[in-house]
Amino acid sequence: MLILGGTTEARELAGRLASRADVATVLSLAGRTEKPVAHPVPVRTGGFGGAAGLSAWLRDNRVDLLIDATHPFAARISANAEAAAALSDVPLVVLRRPGWAREPGDDWIEAGSISEAVESLGAAPRRTFAALGRQELAPLQRAPQHFWLVRSVDPVIPPLDAPRAEYLLGRGPFAEADEIALLRRHRIDAVLCKNSGGAASYGKIAAARRLGLPVFIVARPPEGAAPTVVSVEKALALADHRLAPEKRGE
Ligand code: NAP
Repeated sequence: MLILGGTTEARELAGRLASRADVATVLSLAGRTEKPVAHPVPVRTGGFGGAAGLSAWLRDNRVDLLIDATHPFAARISANAEAAAALSDVPLVVLRRPGWAREPGDDWIEAGSISEAVESLGAAPRRTFAALGRQELAPLQRAPQHFWLVRSVDPVIPPLDAPRAEYLLGRGPFAEADEIALLRRHRIDAVLCKNSGGAASYGKIAAARRLGLPVFIVARPPEGAAPTVVSVEKALALADHRLAPEKRGE
């Protein structure tokens, strides 16, 4: 089984499969994070070279089941997974955590992209907390009037071409109370983030609600056509079903 990872769910799923004698699992990482957290199964790192490269990997390693447990915003690898699964005739299951839903008291301004969200912040200077990946920060430079508090797992090098930016290092989970303290300490008046879903990064959403701050939130990219489950438990059940001997023609 090949798990395309880079998420908590992928790591959890790998943990559930690690001790099983009937499946050999490999987890794939893109290699974006300098020091990724440890995984309980063998890990391969780096791009495959598009859908054709992934398809070749599936074939060469005699993969019976591909699980796309990548981040909901990692649209390219998910499209590649779908194409590669079709090319190599390997079943694909997508494990995708649900997006956050707006709750009473939330002041969300939804956008189709990070650029659009930055534009929606408006012309007047704001003090904005940007919880984005460090590869996604370029659009912030087009709005130098704002103060940016940027939090990322690895340092932003080189720093942004933005006169009023401060940087924080941090890896989730982030608790609501800590996020409230952070937003207060930096006198933040807007939050910029993606609708990633999941508990680990929900703290900032709950904190913004509590403090009455607007959240400029990027909506998720469209989902593909492959069977999709929302929990590790359901992924395991579907994997067992897909891997049943009769499905493999044994
Ligand atoms: P992306 O734009 O969808 O993918 C870009 C390229 O990176 C892919 O075409 C592929 O290269 C390679 N790649 C991505 N995920 C891979 C994986 N798990 N294993 C091997 N190669 C992979 O992806 P992204 O948004 O840059 O995200 C990169 C990774 O970080 C993903 O694994 C994702 O789960 C994780 N992540 C992303 C976000 C986010 O907000 N985007 C947040 C947290 C974690 P080739 O075409 O050469 O195969």
